[in-house]
Amino acid sequence: MRKLIPGADDAPALGLVQVAPRIRVLALRTPTLPPAAHTNVYLVGPSQGPVAVVDPGSPYPDQQAILDTILAELPISRVLLTHHHGDHVGGAAALAAHRGVPIAAHPATARRLDDIIEVTELIEDGDEIDGTIAVHTPGHAEGHLCFEIDDASIAGDMVAGVGTILIDPSEGDMALYLASLERMRARTPTTLLPAHGPPIRDGHAKLTEYLAHRRMREQRVLDALVAAGAGATTDVLLSVVYADTPRMLWPLAERSLLAHLAKLVHEDHARYDAAGGRWSR
Ligand SMILES: [Zn+2]
Repeated sequence: MRKLIPGADDAPALGLVQVAPRIRVLALRTPTLPPAAHTNVYLVGPSQGPVAVVDPGSPYPDQQAILDTILAELPISRVLLTHHHGDHVGGAAALAAHRGVPIAAHPATARRLDDIIEVTELIEDGDEIDGTIAVHTPGHAEGHLCFEIDDASIAGDMVAGVGTILIDPSEGDMALYLASLERMRARTPTTLLPAHGPPIRDGHAKLTEYLAHRRMREQRVLDALVAAGAGATTDVLLSVVYADTPRMLWPLAERSLLAHLAKLVHEDHARYDAAGGRWSR
């Protein structure tokens, strides 16, 4: 039975759902970041195929079996990856081997997956592939791609229909992420098809909201640095900048805070005293 507590899980539709002309989606259970519990697999192409399979991310045999059954009657052109994270690539190698098709991704994604998954086709910004246009959108991940078809964009982890997008400073880049959001908005997609959660039908408004939210947070970091005067530790900044965020989310919020601080340091708007462990203007 479905849980009825809002936000308890992402409760996706079961089975294959048409979300745009030539795009269908199937949500499969994956080890992903709560509250999301599924990753969307998008099938791109005509109803009788051939289809490209975007982000077959589930490592679980029962979920892979569901996808295999749905794909059994359909010719497949290839597996397309938006980026290298485990909840996007977990079923890619098994599907590609089973069906004898290539795996295609951005070169930076291929490097990240080296020794894990063999990416056999490289996709660069602007390439046309399977009737889509690949758009390089680094920030959440260095090799992140969106795949545009008409006025829809398969958006991977650039936006989320459920939960939020984590920019982790160990491999993400806040400045690049904001620039990629700007670029996506300038391309005016009507529909954003995220990897987690339902389609976002007013893509322009959602991208504007994301940009405003991140800029609000950056301003709060700057304000907290000014208020701190001689300097503040990461923990103190976290408690001020994310005062509106439930404490259970602070470990993730800290990653975002550090991504914001890295951007500000790079832009010469903040400094870090490693000896004292303090951030200041
Ligand atoms: Zn990701």
